[in-house]
Amino acid sequence: MAPGQVVVVGGGISGLTAAWALTGGAEHRADAPAVVVLESSSRLGGALRSAEFGGRVVDMGPDGFLGRRPEAVDLCREVGLTDALAPIAGRGASVWARGRLRALPEGLALGIPTRFWPTARAGVLGFRGQLGLARDAVLPRPDVRGPIGDRSVGPLVARKLGQRVVDTLVDPLIGGIHAGSVDDMSAAAVFPPLLAAAQRRGGLMRALRAEMPAPDPDGPPLFWSVDGGMASLVRTLVAKLGERGVDIRLSAPADRLERSGAGWSVWSGGRAAAADAVVLAAPAPATGSLLQPHDDEAAALLQTVEYASVVLVTFRVGVDDVPAPLYGTGFLVPRRSPHKGRDPWAVTACTFLDRKWPHLARDGEVLLRASLGRMDDVRPEGWTDGEAIDRAWEELGALLGVTGAPTDAVVVRCPDALPQYRVHHLLRTAGVEAAVARLGGVAVAGAAYHGVGIPACIASGRAAARTLL
Ligand SMILES: Cc1cc2nc3c(=O)[nH]c(=O)nc-3n(C[C@H](O)[C@H](O)[C@H](O)COP(=O)(O)OP(=O)(O)OC[C@H]3O[C@@H](n4cnc5c(N)ncnc54)[C@H](O)[C@@H]3O)c2cc1C
Repeated sequence: MAPGQVVVVGGGISGLTAAWALTGGAEHRADAPAVVVLESSSRLGGALRSAEFGGRVVDMGPDGFLGRRPEAVDLCREVGLTDALAPIAGRGASVWARGRLRALPEGLALGIPTRFWPTARAGVLGFRGQLGLARDAVLPRPDVRGPIGDRSVGPLVARKLGQRVVDTLVDPLIGGIHAGSVDDMSAAAVFPPLLAAAQRRGGLMRALRAEMPAPDPDGPPLFWSVDGGMASLVRTLVAKLGERGVDIRLSAPADRLERSGAGWSVWSGGRAAAADAVVLAAPAPATGSLLQPHDDEAAALLQTVEYASVVLVTFRVGVDDVPAPLYGTGFLVPRRSPHKGRDPWAVTACTFLDRKWPHLARDGEVLLRASLGRMDDVRPEGWTDGEAIDRAWEELGALLGVTGAPTDAVVVRCPDALPQYRVHHLLRTAGVEAAVARLGGVAVAGAAYHGVGIPACIASGRAAARTLL
């Protein structure tokens, strides 16, 4: 029997999408359940946020989403934002390697080389790094298979292509997406084609080419953004949910989940919301606490998911203070690259926001966004905003060559924002999902399970709704 009332815990994109799907998605269903969304903070959207900066709305969290997956584009279209979808403009990016910024080689698959010569010519690896790569073509190293179908991305690639490839290319790209390290990151969860390629005979680069056909140059854009910022997606979605009668409660943290007859009661600050079914779309630790009284295995699995914090510093810079021309959409800084005479780089990446998204461009200035902090670098969390700005600007001076002073700067902190997918993450997820299914009338959604990207989170919200309906 379809539930009459559903409570969604968490008003990030996963929870809001679950509410959207529960009420029919593209087509509002007249017989949809009554939906209540409980959000602990005073605003909706979770990681998605945008703010006015220098006369335009700039994303202060995620600034785009993959075009290869349909979910986010579909959601934008369903809520009426088709005209606001803005394709990525710039191509290419650089990496700090061997003492300067160098263009990333052609033919990388999430940072992993698929061809020897373009990678060698890019000059990012140096002679020893190139030798490691050459061995994959002439003397492929056999794979060591474990009993369970997962491997750690870093050691797997290092064994095949050399540690230099991991440090210079793979860790900044794949590790960077999670603000983590590929030393202990699940290949099955973050990049399944790598796992499949590693199990083929012969060289890894050739196997990856077979697993991952090159993107069609005439295909859809690789990334999309929303003119008006990601917050406009949240705002539009929330307005539509309001029209459907969804009851959205802010500053309402779910603090207890109780059985109530055949259904559930979700408590928030002494007030209970009755539910035939519940979607838990909060981060893993909060979901674990709610599930603790009902299934300690699920709770324990969820408590082991660690989260990385990041600090974003966005600068408006006079065009004369930025070296021209800027190449591509930004650059990455490998965490093990030397920083002469100083403690390690705090900046992990810099995005040229207005080169990537032309709707943000204004005459005479450049918008730069520096990301600081990772799972293994918590220094930026302890800095004041002023210290974070000074440090980011100083490092952009050394890395990119900015001069003078920024016109304006804003700091956004994202504490415990990015879940770490350790090896065997998918087993952990399967354990949580099986335990939750046994409870009946509960489903989980969010970045902690099947992907941190916005499309994956949207897919998880829709899947949770489907399970309950
Ligand atoms: C800085 C940054 C940049 C990113 N860049 C990109 C990008 O460019 N492209 C991309 O695709 N992805 C990007 N991501 C990833 C993506 O934005 C997130 O993984 C995704 O938005 C997570 O959505 P969510 O709804 O699962 O979780 P969240 O956004 O974390 O939402 C969870 C919500 O639950 C609420 N909550 C917590 N506890 C409770 C409780 N007890 N009761 C009620 N509510 C609770 C929280 O307040 C929050 O609002 C980025 C992430 C970050 C942090």
